[in-house]
Amino acid sequence: MVSADLDVIIIGAGIGGLTAALELDRVGIKAHIYESVEEIKPLGVGINLLPHATKVLGECGLLDALTETAIETSAFIFFNKFGQKIWSEPRGIEAGYAWPQLSIHRGDLQMILLAAARERLGAERIHTGHHVAQIGPALDGRVHARFVNRTTGATVTAETADLLIAGDGIHSVVRAQLRPTEGPPTWNGVLLWRATTEASPILSGREMISIGYPGRRFIAYPIGKAQAARGSSLINWIAEIQRDPSTPFRREDWNRRGTLAEFLPRFEDWVFDWVDVPAIMRAAEAIYEYPCVDRDPIGRWTHGRVTLLGDAAHPMYPMGSNGASQAILDARALAQALVAEPDLDGALAAYEATRRPATAQVVLANRRQGPAEIQTIVEERAPNGFDRIESVISAAELAEISSRYKQLAGFDRQTVNAGKRPETSLT
Ligand SMILES: Cc1cc2nc3c(=O)[nH]c(=O)nc-3n(C[C@H](O)[C@H](O)[C@H](O)COP(=O)(O)OP(=O)(O)OC[C@H]3O[C@@H](n4cnc5c(N)ncnc54)[C@H](O)[C@@H]3O)c2cc1C
Repeated sequence: MVSADLDVIIIGAGIGGLTAALELDRVGIKAHIYESVEEIKPLGVGINLLPHATKVLGECGLLDALTETAIETSAFIFFNKFGQKIWSEPRGIEAGYAWPQLSIHRGDLQMILLAAARERLGAERIHTGHHVAQIGPALDGRVHARFVNRTTGATVTAETADLLIAGDGIHSVVRAQLRPTEGPPTWNGVLLWRATTEASPILSGREMISIGYPGRRFIAYPIGKAQAARGSSLINWIAEIQRDPSTPFRREDWNRRGTLAEFLPRFEDWVFDWVDVPAIMRAAEAIYEYPCVDRDPIGRWTHGRVTLLGDAAHPMYPMGSNGASQAILDARALAQALVAEPDLDGALAAYEATRRPATAQVVLANRRQGPAEIQTIVEERAPNGFDRIESVISAAELAEISSRYKQLAGFDRQTVNAGKRPETSLT
């Protein structure tokens, strides 16, 4: 094991950074977290945690807190643009996993992680209002980081540590410094509008649904247990539209507001006997616009005493519910490597050898639409709908696409269920 006295700086108190702090704490290493914003607020809309990620968080002792607020997703169902069912597969506990798939508000997830980090590490180790501006090797071979106030640009402090973990998200300053010629993330031409609407439950109130095909699609899943308890549903939804990727787009910003008029006309006739898509869209609380961006996988995450984690390492399209989950898996792998290896260089090499190829595969699979490849095939083969899905695509082909993605992203049931399930209040 690398010494528990290791000085570790984590950049970013997002999903990956906070999980890394909790995972390091589990192996006896108390890190310091430096977060750009002055106050960590519960921002975003819905996010999915696949069973391999809930397993990590469960082993961190957070499953009860998560399931108090999240919906345990029971199935993922794909439909064509006429609302006809293409494929339905059970998810989480219903699919025989020992850990659930959770649909949760990102803000709730972040606040649960933050509360645990404050309690376990001590609030004094979480430094908000510290935007990393510059990193570099220190004279003693360690790593040096300078932090500024994001608004004024004034230096707040400078720190030296044995290891710096960059979990500073899709616009990672650390990555930009390590790869100065890389430029901004690339856009595939798809715009996403994300929102929540409180409404009557869709289907049984626990399914994730996807209607349409890449470029004209509506995805929805419920995220609130409180609403479900009173017979309602907090529906997280995403409207997706393909534009010309050569046209200019507004830089990705998780907090940018969007408007209904930009996408509603493309979905106006999506009123089916089991869901009224335009009605859900019209009743949205707030709508956020986000371009579908990612970056090419890279050949190296670790530079001396600095390594990348989460979106800073492998930003991906949000196609297979994997963004947060893969960041959580990175955190686990890094902590495990620090335990398994005798020295820091070996641990960072082991972390990268485990996670870099694995996440590169997911980035590339998401470019092929992840499991939603099913909808591309059906739209191509049956653009006017179908009488029987079997005449368009066989059940075996559907099952193969679904199982291939799960294997590739590391959440096939056999892999996830290997190992013991902790005691929880889940049934
Ligand atoms: C405000 C916000 C809202 C989001 N909403 C959604 C959503 O609704 N649905 C969804 O699927 N994904 C959302 N995401 C992205 C999602 O959280 C990530 O894709 C995924 O969870 C991987 O997490 P991460 O920790 O790598 O990155 P993030 O969760 O993005 O966390 C990065 C953290 O680093 C901080 N940071 C950035 N630059 C610096 C710097 N220079 N110095 C110090 N700290 C820095 C950020 O403030 C943030 O807290 C959102 C991200 C943010 C920041």
